[in-house]
Amino acid sequence: MTDPTAVSPSARRDEIAANLADVRKRIDAACAAAGRVPGEVTLIAVTKTFPASDVRLLAGLGVTEVAENRDQDAAPKAGECRDLPLTWHFVGQLQTNKVRSVASYAGVVESVDRSKLVRALSAAALREERTLRCLVQVGLDEREGRGGAAPADVPALADEIAGAQGLELGGVMAVAPLGGDPVEAFTRLAEIAAGVRDSHPGAMAISAGMSGDLEAAIACGATHVRVGTALLGGRRAIVR
Ligand SMILES: *Cc1c(COP(=O)(O)O)cnc(C)c1O
Repeated sequence: MTDPTAVSPSARRDEIAANLADVRKRIDAACAAAGRVPGEVTLIAVTKTFPASDVRLLAGLGVTEVAENRDQDAAPKAGECRDLPLTWHFVGQLQTNKVRSVASYAGVVESVDRSKLVRALSAAALREERTLRCLVQVGLDEREGRGGAAPADVPALADEIAGAQGLELGGVMAVAPLGGDPVEAFTRLAEIAAGVRDSHPGAMAISAGMSGDLEAAIACGATHVRVGTALLGGRRAIVR
């Protein structure tokens, strides 16, 4: 595993550039295999645990979407990268006391999984005078504490987001259950997404697929893939 602090900036840039080329190749191949146009799938770089300098390198390589899962790490990083043309996605479990901070830098909150959070995000968006795009995080495995609304609760939550001031319903997000069949999980997600689109035709986003399962997600209709490890390397400890 590579320690990003142990290599020179130009070596790190080369490493990330090579990883990015590989990931883009995988996305293109998965799109081709599924009969989809590569431009339909947006890459989101998950930069959690990696320093702002890596975010800067990614931006220099043309990445425009980045994701973080902890406000404590994301807020200072987004601050350091304020000058870059990036959209920040929040993808972690979110407590209502962090919502105000998240609303100050995030363009998209992908992990909306309960009504209380919808109300808090709406209030924060109004206070910040901006529109926050929200995805309903779908919990595909009840055994895990990874967050996500139960599939049966997704339509009502989508309605709440769509009706909330300051919020815009983007679609759905999910993480495939550990050890399960990702195609099965993402097929289920696609069905849930179609149900949401019946009532909200503009809610087209399906954020699914990570380093290990992006091909399965793209085969099942993902519009966004969230990739960390394959771009930046393994995560060992929190570095900033
Ligand atoms: C960390 C994370 C990812 C990226 O996972 P990798 O396996 O490193 O690509 C994607 N989505 C969420 C919600 C994450 O927390």
